[in-house]
Amino acid sequence: MMNCCRPMKLDGSKTLKTWTEECAVFGIWGDPEAAQMTYLALYAQQHRGQESSGIVSLYEGQHFHHRGMGLVGEVFSPADLDRLKGEAAIGHNRYSTTGQPLLANAQPLTAHLLNGPVALAHNGNLINAEKLRVQLKKEGAIFQGTNDTEILVHLLARNSEANILSCLKQALPLLKGAYSMVLLTHDQLIAFRDPLGFRPLSLGYRKTSDGRKAVVISSETCAFDLIGAEYVRDIEPGEIFCVNQSGESSSFFLSEDDKKQTAFCVFEHVYFSRPDSLVFGRSVYESRKKMGRQLAREAPVDADLVIPIPDSGVPAALGYSEESGLPFDLGIIRNHYIGRTFIQPSQSIRSFGVKIKHNPQSHILKDKRVVAVDDSLVRGTTSKKIIQLLRQAGAKEVHFRIAAPPTTGPCYYGVDTSRRSKLIAAERSVEEIRKYVGADTLAYLSLEGLFAAVNGDAQQYCAACFDGHYKLLEEEETSL
Ligand code: AMP
Repeated sequence: MMNCCRPMKLDGSKTLKTWTEECAVFGIWGDPEAAQMTYLALYAQQHRGQESSGIVSLYEGQHFHHRGMGLVGEVFSPADLDRLKGEAAIGHNRYSTTGQPLLANAQPLTAHLLNGPVALAHNGNLINAEKLRVQLKKEGAIFQGTNDTEILVHLLARNSEANILSCLKQALPLLKGAYSMVLLTHDQLIAFRDPLGFRPLSLGYRKTSDGRKAVVISSETCAFDLIGAEYVRDIEPGEIFCVNQSGESSSFFLSEDDKKQTAFCVFEHVYFSRPDSLVFGRSVYESRKKMGRQLAREAPVDADLVIPIPDSGVPAALGYSEESGLPFDLGIIRNHYIGRTFIQPSQSIRSFGVKIKHNPQSHILKDKRVVAVDDSLVRGTTSKKIIQLLRQAGAKEVHFRIAAPPTTGPCYYGVDTSRRSKLIAAERSVEEIRKYVGADTLAYLSLEGLFAAVNGDAQQYCAACFDGHYKLLEEEETSL
């Protein structure tokens, strides 16, 4: 897993570590089983964040909350869910792989403002967070944690408007970066997305046990499938969508310009989202299979079989196999029960970290010329170890195929792709990377091929991690 700790300049003097926010958000309104449905929705989106999880519910104008460190199944007991009363709730899973995980960073964040209680859950990353934080601190704000979401809470608090929507209208234009958020007040659920729409956010309806139609909002639609909700549409970039006590929904845009340019994160389709989700209105599974098919056309090779690097490489490997006509097989079996911590044994067990997760099948690989397909190659460290394991298991040749272009730039919008210095393709040629990872041949999908696989409209997407074109940037970030 990648490092997601980013040092950033604060006050021009200190360097402070902030965590990137690769998260899942969920919201539900008008369902007698609101907390239970939120729990299930977070469970379905565990892959988007494993550090902490939380739910805030609304009952008779009051908020009830439960947050904790760890996986969804560890954080909530049945009794916790029973305490989360009411017909509305929001939930959040937070991602962090390094640094000191803090409960203070766990979301949803809660606060009491002039206009009542608010709870907020955020997926994305604000690129002007440090500037705003310093400014707010100078004005006397006391921050509880280090996450950028708290900034919005302070901005809302500084506004004396009685109506939370008016507060939002004033605060949101100050934020720069990626945000897909859900906000729960004492009388409404609000979902909103930044004007470029970097991170996904979908709207759906769920038929409740008493026959009503609850509104549901989710980072990914795989959550809708689990709770029996129907996907309706995406919350659009720049849209503010609300549903109130009488069940009426309304929506508006802060600016008409918000509808023009978009920056949908292409990496959601490459790696981050679950393949059974619709993201930006497209099936992630279909995108990945198309990436694999395109890769087979761009980088064919004479070989005996195609194997995926599980799990994220599976759809692309299927596509590669279908297009090339080479048989598909599971040359590596993955252990699905790896916790976040395990006791590291002595160095005598080589490649332990990779082996505990990936076990190559020598009866499948022995004396075979293998095409190994993965979704992306970031630092090269895992890939190098996996290729070693494939050879130890008897593979005669290993042709490594990556269903994405070389990752050359860090992400400032919420995906943890490491600092530039850690990205192997930032400074090395494909041939140098091939030597480093120890493959017989190495090929990446072209940028054009990637866009073709996700509908052909390159303008819709942010692919800055692959093409260096950042649609939003703060000065200090160019140094990362
Ligand atoms: P490496 O060889 O160390 O670059 O690891 C490549 C693997 O990292 C691929 O299997 C990807 O699925 C996975 N990967 C890509 N991006 C991320 C990320 N942001 N966090 C964790 N793993 C990732």
